[in-house]
Amino acid sequence: MIIGAGGVGTVVAHKVARLPEVFTDIMLASRTKAKCDAIAEKVGGNRIQTAEVDADNVPELTKLLESFNPDIVINVALPYQDLHIMDACLNAGVNYLDTANYEPIDEAKFEYSWQWAYQDRFKKAGLTAILGCGFDPGVTGIYTAYAKKHYFDEMHYLDIVDCNAGDHGKYFATNFNPEINIREITQNGRYFENGKWIETKPLEIHKPIDYPNIGPRESYVLYHEELESLTKNFPSLKRARFWMTFGQQYITALEVLQEVGLTSIKPIKYQGMDIVPLQFLKAVLPDPGSLGQNYQGETSIGCQIRGVKDGKEQTYYVWNNCSHEEAYKDTGAQGVSYTTGVPAMIGAKMFLEGKWGGTGVFNVEEFDPDPFMEDLNKYGLPWNEEVNKLLPVEK
Ligand code: NDP
Repeated sequence: MIIGAGGVGTVVAHKVARLPEVFTDIMLASRTKAKCDAIAEKVGGNRIQTAEVDADNVPELTKLLESFNPDIVINVALPYQDLHIMDACLNAGVNYLDTANYEPIDEAKFEYSWQWAYQDRFKKAGLTAILGCGFDPGVTGIYTAYAKKHYFDEMHYLDIVDCNAGDHGKYFATNFNPEINIREITQNGRYFENGKWIETKPLEIHKPIDYPNIGPRESYVLYHEELESLTKNFPSLKRARFWMTFGQQYITALEVLQEVGLTSIKPIKYQGMDIVPLQFLKAVLPDPGSLGQNYQGETSIGCQIRGVKDGKEQTYYVWNNCSHEEAYKDTGAQGVSYTTGVPAMIGAKMFLEGKWGGTGVFNVEEFDPDPFMEDLNKYGLPWNEEVNKLLPVEK
């Protein structure tokens, strides 16, 4: 069962429907049933059943899960729903996968503690929960696990680099849910060094990084959730940073929106009603799902790692470039939804095929990366690698 009929849900639905030998019966459930029906119709072939559900209503979702009885839920609704969906999965005895860690709606704070706290309950129930199986988090964790397995005895420096060099022709739009995206960018930056977290002002550290097939783009250090699990699961890391590109126009527009208070998540009174400025802003910004048609250019996301193998210094860079046009041709969605939805499908496939499993709550880097890496090449996100070349982030 897929929960969430947005940009990412569109990609997941298309991709799972094409693999009837793995995904025999599919339901797409979301807050607005009409959106599920529209996606199911595009997919065609009566492959997808649809349902309306408020995933924050645990009894309602439990009932739906009990009636459809899926093997696994692919949660591509919003991070606010994560804990409610995990609760319903525990009630109904269903395995769980998501692409973004839980965030409380009234506080822009994302960390794994809330979901890691479900460890014992999933263990006791004999169920698997797979956290953060999009691209970043997701493929970036699998790339790191693959690097460790095949190229390093010890990894010391990890830089995750995320470039979107696409152009959707809009003055200002976010590539995934605007509320989640703006909360992520406007908070303080943070990276890990020598066992400590170093906090920065929002977008304080930046420099141009050269991306394959794209060229140099100004890249900014942000806090990103996989840093928390990767530094825990690979304790030899001395430093771990996450870089993301932004154009100057995007940053200027965001600064204005911030200065006038439109990115705030504190409710204000408007004509006698309580409204959250950021939720209002989301309502007037372009729907990320609608950006696909005219989106040109590509994304490039990868991991650049320095460490030691057989007593010698070694570097490793692994990345994927994804074309927005190709993503749109394949699923009717743009590249950012595509790079998230394809890994979510593959993660569920790994579970259903018995290649990933175990009871409890897992981050993706805890599983065997090899079969997942093979499937990335098969299902639309082929990767490239370079060994012992100067890392672009170190130039
Ligand atoms: P969208 O806003 O396009 O879609 C979210 C969907 O969830 C909408 O259809 C929405 O319903 C539905 N939804 C919201 N609340 C509820 C609820 N209470 N019950 C049921 N359905 C609900 O977001 P995206 O598709 O862009 O993103 C989906 C997820 O993917 C997000 O969690 C995002 O953080 C994550 N993501 C992860 C990335 C990664 O690389 N790991 C990258 C990009 C995104 P409605 O249509 O009615 O609004």
